[in-house]
Amino acid sequence: MSKPVRTRFAPSPTGFLHVGGIRTALFAYLVAKQADGTFILRLEDTDKKREVEGSAEHLIESLKILGINYDEGPDKPGDLGPYRQSERLETYQKWAKKLIESGRAYADPYTPEEVQVFREDAQKNKLPFLYRNHRPENPVAWDGSKPLRFKSDPKGYKWNDAVMGDLSTGPEVIDDFILIKSDGYPTYNFAHIVDDAEMNISHVIRGQEFISSTPNYLNLYEALNLDRPILATMPHILNETGNKKLGKRDGAKDVLDYIKDGYLPVALVSFIATLGWNDGTEQEIFTRDELIEKFSLDRVGRSGAHFDTRRLNWVNGHFIRQMQIDGLYNASEKYWPDEAKSSDESYKKQVLGLIQERLKFLSEIPELTRFFFKDLPIDLSLIESNKQLKKIDKPELADLLSQSVKQLEQSDFTSADIQTKLNSLLESTNQKPAVLFSIIRVATTWSPASPALADTLAVLGKDKAIERLNKSIAALSQ
Ligand code: GLU
Repeated sequence: MSKPVRTRFAPSPTGFLHVGGIRTALFAYLVAKQADGTFILRLEDTDKKREVEGSAEHLIESLKILGINYDEGPDKPGDLGPYRQSERLETYQKWAKKLIESGRAYADPYTPEEVQVFREDAQKNKLPFLYRNHRPENPVAWDGSKPLRFKSDPKGYKWNDAVMGDLSTGPEVIDDFILIKSDGYPTYNFAHIVDDAEMNISHVIRGQEFISSTPNYLNLYEALNLDRPILATMPHILNETGNKKLGKRDGAKDVLDYIKDGYLPVALVSFIATLGWNDGTEQEIFTRDELIEKFSLDRVGRSGAHFDTRRLNWVNGHFIRQMQIDGLYNASEKYWPDEAKSSDESYKKQVLGLIQERLKFLSEIPELTRFFFKDLPIDLSLIESNKQLKKIDKPELADLLSQSVKQLEQSDFTSADIQTKLNSLLESTNQKPAVLFSIIRVATTWSPASPALADTLAVLGKDKAIERLNKSIAALSQ
């Protein structure tokens, strides 16, 4: 029987979670869930200098909001915890002793200055600097005041990475690395190997930055007599325009900021899953259940995937359009402009119904809806910047609006009847829709964008629409 699937996400609490981190977590979650396995959160908090206060809570909140739920973690103890590395120091000591006893670890005797001299010597001789060329002949017993270093066994490796395929390296990349620092904390290189073994991790799914160290990890698995887990390396996420790794400067945002901007968790999950993965078809949007069913590591691309905000907006818009109006209304609660505070639910739902089709993310709501709640100031630049309207004199525009008022006063103000009146106005004024409808649209909203004209007028209501038309006529007649 094959080993139960146990995967982990192992962030260091040094900041927020951006899409790259979330993607690693999501893939590890999907691999576990599709095999009825266990997904674990382990906090790798052994680098006290880099730790950022509040970051662990922030990471946990990000995973929870996206529904990347772990079965075991710091706040969800299982049998193989604790799940914070800083609470596991005794375990690392125990495994370090095994290595000392088998002659595979030694106290590093050198000061940083001495190491610098070795480094410069190697440079002078055009040789790569390797610690293992300077192993002390008679190492002192390790008392914790010095770093503990791994005594490696240089050799070549061939191994398979579930994403990157068959890889190989020569002995020159194997070196003696630090296992436990002089502050008593283990390095990532040592701690993750110990923890993955103790926590029965079946798949190590992580970012590309660790691939060059992998041969050293393989060396350590052997020294500890451990079976190596399945290794899967995620390629970088690249910025939108170039081929550089997506970084803070390219707007690599905290995933919680996307939530604040009104991106839906389902959309973010679907979008992030398809950053570098597809199911072999043209399908671009996936529900969580589909992802659990269809995801596979061997369909993750080996080269970097480009982050694409337009695609994210498109995916989010798709999920917004699929929502029932009640669901969308509940999701929209925090996003209404101040002017909408006193409006009732049914009016706001009508407004939402009009913009649902084009809404990309919920924080666009104020900009797209403000004129439904408030008379916006008359802004003649909207006419001057309109290709069709700028060609026509203001009195003539005012006249078109006066004729519109006359027609619309006779409407029952259902959207269908408004459309009929607008059509007969086209005939009676002998104007193009691009002129007539644009001036009515501008004069009733004074907003650069609005939904379909008849629908917009119907939701605004007869009194408001006629009042705004009359005010606009006055402004254009001055
Ligand atoms: N603590 C490492 C990081 O945050 C985790 C790498 C791993 O998943 O093993 O990058």
